[in-house]
Amino acid sequence: MATSGVSIAEELRTALDGPWRAVRERARALLDDDRLYGDPSLDLKAARARVLEQMRLVATFDWVDSGFRHPDGTPGDAGAVVTALETLAYTDLSLWVKSGVQWGLFGGAVENLGTERHRTYLDELIPLRLLGCFAMTETGHGSDVANLETTATYDPATREFVVHSPTPSARKDYIGGAAEHARMAAVFAQLITGGESKGVHCFLVPIRDEAGGDLTGVTTSDCGYKGGLPGVDNGRILFDQVRIPRENLLNRYADVAEDGSYSSDIENPSRRFFTTLGTLVRGRVSVGGAAAAAARVGLSIAVRYAEQRRQFADPDTGQETVLLDYRSHQRRLLPLVARSYALAFAQNDLVRRMHLVQTGQDTDPRAQRALENRAAGLKVAQTRFATAAIQECREACGGAGYLTENRLVTLKADTDVFTTFEGDNVVLTQLVAKDLLTAYADEVRDLDALGWV
Ligand SMILES: Cc1cc2nc3c(=O)[nH]c(=O)nc-3n(C[C@H](O)[C@H](O)[C@H](O)COP(=O)(O)OP(=O)(O)OC[C@H]3O[C@@H](n4cnc5c(N)ncnc54)[C@H](O)[C@@H]3O)c2cc1C
Repeated sequence: MATSGVSIAEELRTALDGPWRAVRERARALLDDDRLYGDPSLDLKAARARVLEQMRLVATFDWVDSGFRHPDGTPGDAGAVVTALETLAYTDLSLWVKSGVQWGLFGGAVENLGTERHRTYLDELIPLRLLGCFAMTETGHGSDVANLETTATYDPATREFVVHSPTPSARKDYIGGAAEHARMAAVFAQLITGGESKGVHCFLVPIRDEAGGDLTGVTTSDCGYKGGLPGVDNGRILFDQVRIPRENLLNRYADVAEDGSYSSDIENPSRRFFTTLGTLVRGRVSVGGAAAAAARVGLSIAVRYAEQRRQFADPDTGQETVLLDYRSHQRRLLPLVARSYALAFAQNDLVRRMHLVQTGQDTDPRAQRALENRAAGLKVAQTRFATAAIQECREACGGAGYLTENRLVTLKADTDVFTTFEGDNVVLTQLVAKDLLTAYADEVRDLDALGWV
């Protein structure tokens, strides 16, 4: 017991809960509901239907709405919604990913890359009247987003963009929601106007009718069974000269006038591209947080099991020994617990920084760049940690760890791909390294001999 009668566990929980403690408390209470947990025995079709139903329940929680900009223009509570979403990862990761796609990626693209004229879409997508997807990756290009092949060519005669997949490798691939549920896609494509390519921009493209059939010119298909996340309907999309209104360009950073003239406040195309991607940093922050949360679920299962499971009698007492009394078992699990605490503190700090930047409280231009680097680095650390820690937890529970009802195998399967989506870990590490080395070069470039010393 700590002083003043508050238990160490309570003090630890307060410290780990971080700045949005009340949000976590409320989320924990709302999520204490059997309807929100996964059922690993379901087939693909049933698992997807169940997750969609679960999302409808989550949509009634007030924190979904609170993350978005309010109609009067005041920013949403970015920190609160990312924290609540992290808590959702304790339930079922298919539900977490599908929710992240709808409100985080699709909703995030509309809110952060769009302008007032796109507000109506937010009003539809928040309560799930409009289901969407985030179509960036293509069969030919995943990590190399700048070289996507899908085109959106402006036609001034009709004031429309023509969205097209010019090659088989331009097919959108792995897209969450594209196999079954999404009616609209936020499509990343090369914008072409006046015969000139202006780089990757994002467009809202309707893909399905109300009955779920592909719209004219759109061909969707299903990625089928995956290594995990059975409740997420990942799919593919091909576009054959699909026409969308000019206004469907998400035009926060660039616009095309009716006559086809292009304008942007950011002149440098490369800076424009990285600003566009940087705006979507919330997704990466959330993926890292969810992976770490999943690792905490695994660790709490393994530690609790180790406190009760007994193997081999103590020769002095004749009593069988609990696993956690073995030093080797402590060495396997306790450093992982300590590391999971460290990552939780780091995540809380990252979310706090993100909140300050995204709510306009930190306007230092260097803060956004630093945030992107931290988000990338921490996403790598957390997802790698989750993969390793959950495997150790599985082994630490012996055969019981291998039974699906004990969750560890599902956690393992579902978190596996977290190292790949929202930025492949190796590529992200290279990006962070490049930025740090560039910053270092800037610092030392003009130093004379004395400066070097
Ligand atoms: C389940 C799932 C859900 C997804 N959901 C979505 C979604 O909703 N929307 C969406 O747009 N995308 C989605 N994706 C796609 C995901 O973002 C991409 O898979 C990811 O960006 C990696 O791209 P890639 O698969 O083409 O791999 P690649 O980029 O081809 O990488 C393959 C390997 O090559 C390595 N590599 C690549 N480039 C380099 C380099 N320069 N130097 C060294 N090594 C390199 C990588 O480290 C990796 O190991 C999803 C993917 C999956 C599996």
